[in-house]
Amino acid sequence: MDAHCHLADHKLDEGLEVWLKEASALGITYFIQGGVGPEDWNIQLEISRKYPGRIFPCFGVHPWFVAKNPRESCLAAFEELKTKIKDSVGVGELGLDFSKKIAESSYDLQRELFKMQLRFAREKNLPLVLHIVHAHSEALAILREIGVPEAGGIVHSFSGDASQAKHYTGLGLSLSLGGSVLSRLEKLKQIMVATSLDQIVVETDAPDQTPQDPVVSPQGERPAINPPLTLIRVAEEVSKIKGVDFTNVLEQSKCNLIKIFGLSI
Ligand SMILES: [Zn+2]
Repeated sequence: MDAHCHLADHKLDEGLEVWLKEASALGITYFIQGGVGPEDWNIQLEISRKYPGRIFPCFGVHPWFVAKNPRESCLAAFEELKTKIKDSVGVGELGLDFSKKIAESSYDLQRELFKMQLRFAREKNLPLVLHIVHAHSEALAILREIGVPEAGGIVHSFSGDASQAKHYTGLGLSLSLGGSVLSRLEKLKQIMVATSLDQIVVETDAPDQTPQDPVVSPQGERPAINPPLTLIRVAEEVSKIKGVDFTNVLEQSKCNLIKIFGLSI
């Protein structure tokens, strides 16, 4: 089970079937989505109906959507989210992205949408799919202030350090590790030591975040679409550090996700 990907992304308009076939050949059957905005939610629904029981939609107003759209559109998206939430397994992506490519002028609106969605998820006790980049201290402060839904959630493509990992897991959240960890294995080691496997899940974030990895990107040529193979590579690296078989990592990740998102499969 892939803890996080974007199969509704337009980059996969043509190649989704092939991508899913590749995944099946590797034994990857289930995919939890990350939500971006209203258009993306509708495509998620369409493809989840096309591949029933395999693709789990998840709706949220992504920090990138917030950064690109005026306040009225963001608030309208949040209203729409409330009416469509019955078709979603959780709330997200929600969070903060303070990386260089995101306009600083969007930070306040990002905070507003993050808090709104977090309160809503608490109210409904829906699990979170958090997108936090270069904003871990502030995100943790907001999570502490408003609280985390009992259902928990995942910090997708976790990019923080060992101490931040401890704070997130202490709040009942799980860390979702993706291709980016393959290029920063030293940091990953400390995080792995501090985190038990029942709070770790693995993701591709496909079609984005193709890792710089000798298996996924031989000769340094990164495929334009992040392949399902990334999930296996991430699980392999986690398994080496944890001293278990990589299939155990994948199995435990799947169990964790079934529990967090209340999936019936
Ligand atoms: Zn994502």
